[in-house]
Amino acid sequence: MNEKKIAVVTGASSGIGAATVSALAGLGYQVIGGARRLDRVEDIVAAVGGTALPLDVTDPASVQAFAARVPRAHLLVNNAGLALGVGSIAEPNEAMWTTMYETNVLGVLRMTQALLSALVASGDGHVINVGSIAAFETYAGGGGYTASKHAARALTRTLRLELLGQPVRVTEICPGLVETEFSIVRFEGDSERAAHVYDGLDPLSAEDIAECISFAASRPSHVNIDEIVVRPRAQATAHHVHREATK
Ligand code: NAP
Repeated sequence: MNEKKIAVVTGASSGIGAATVSALAGLGYQVIGGARRLDRVEDIVAAVGGTALPLDVTDPASVQAFAARVPRAHLLVNNAGLALGVGSIAEPNEAMWTTMYETNVLGVLRMTQALLSALVASGDGHVINVGSIAAFETYAGGGGYTASKHAARALTRTLRLELLGQPVRVTEICPGLVETEFSIVRFEGDSERAAHVYDGLDPLSAEDIAECISFAASRPSHVNIDEIVVRPRAQATAHHVHREATK
């Protein structure tokens, strides 16, 4: 009997990662999900018969312990990520920048390094990094987040160059506004402020992004989807958003 292909999804406790767990299971993958809130990953992954493991991508030891429990891997979805605050460059917010870099850049680096040999050994590997339109656009107050996503984009593109000739595809998914817990995290639990981010427009859903990830993953092996940029119809750039008046 053929063993199922294994897909690893980081940030599987919420939002895009949780939706991706279900979508990839639907494609026939055995899914291993990781995040810091293990109880939530367990609930999400149990629904599709997958495996939940604790993971903090900012902690090299946690990444190593996680990778040691991954027996083989065809697909790595580097989805774990966050924005913190909307502080200007002038403000003293280096700690937030450090956390965003540790998670969005070095977290992707650590996970990729930890699983790359398994992906190559699979003979048909794939790394899908969840970037953002913030990877190539900027907005006032978004310096730390946009800088980290720009850096992650550079990492993704460098990886594609360095893997040329190896059996591993590299894809970047760049969403605009998606309604998840992203803004609640950004505004430190202030869900009222977070909800205003989506006032008067239909944002993307986590499932919309999971479909993009599934599309890239399910192309034939010789087809590399380099990137998918996906936004709500009501969003032209990070700061050009059309909002209908709310009643
Ligand atoms: P979300 O609902 O807040 O989910 C973020 C996930 O990342 C959670 O599962 C969280 O899990 C995980 N995570 C955060 N820090 C982590 C760490 N140190 N180690 C392991 N996991 C960690 O937000 P989302 O919108 O689904 O975000 C997913 C990705 O999409 C992020 O990379 C984000 O930058 C990107 N993105 C989001 C949007 C948007 O508008 N929502 C737009 C463009 C791109 P734990 O807290 O349990 O660890």
